[in-house]
Amino acid sequence: MNPVDWIDVTTEKNHYSLDHFVVPDHYEEDVSSILIPHGVIMDRIKKLARMIVDNSQGPLVVCCVLKGGHQYFADLVDEIKKLRRINGTSVQLSLEFIRVKSYMNDTSSGGVKISLTDAELQEFKGKNLLIVEDIIDTGATMVKLLDRLALVEPKSVRVTSLLIKKTYRSNGYIPDYVGFAIPDAFVVGYALDYNEYFRDLDHICVISVSFKIIWDV
Ligand code: 5GP
Repeated sequence: MNPVDWIDVTTEKNHYSLDHFVVPDHYEEDVSSILIPHGVIMDRIKKLARMIVDNSQGPLVVCCVLKGGHQYFADLVDEIKKLRRINGTSVQLSLEFIRVKSYMNDTSSGGVKISLTDAELQEFKGKNLLIVEDIIDTGATMVKLLDRLALVEPKSVRVTSLLIKKTYRSNGYIPDYVGFAIPDAFVVGYALDYNEYFRDLDHICVISVSFKIIWDV
């Protein structure tokens, strides 16, 4: 993907005040600003769905990377279902769920655990896969997942991530379809969590320093 194809929200001027949007009271003290309002996320997903459908051939196995990717996956699949290819054909979808765990608190644990057995992975042989992830940070999780998937020889593998973090820790991996490039900060909301908190927040927000201090002691 060409970096100009994603929306860059890495600078301070991209942050919205909490007063400008509705944030549940139980999170008002815990986030410092809104980085991507829910409506902008939804509009961007329409465009990503259009790009995916335009570049797709044959039936598509859409794989949700749990847990953080579930909201993006649900909204993306809804949009893809509404669309047809340029030649007028509809896109046949099947849905799969992969649990991948790599983080404790807000730091990488180094290891990546994938929930599927070798037999379950074999189901992907010869299929067109679309992997749906919430965020690429270092890129380590996705590279490990792709290495594992390559062993079962899918016909094609494309990856979409709603977010990519601009960080010096990146291994250089860039997905095929990216929604937004974000700053090197820990973000929550739209199903992205901090120790299971904030999954019920609609906007993508930057966590407040005070919340982190309370959790990290
Ligand atoms: P990576 O292997 O690319 O460093 O990390 C990918 C995974 O780390 C994501 O799937 C996500 O679970 C978690 N992660 C990385 N950065 C963030 C962040 O800013 N917020 C949240 N909630 N999770 C993150």
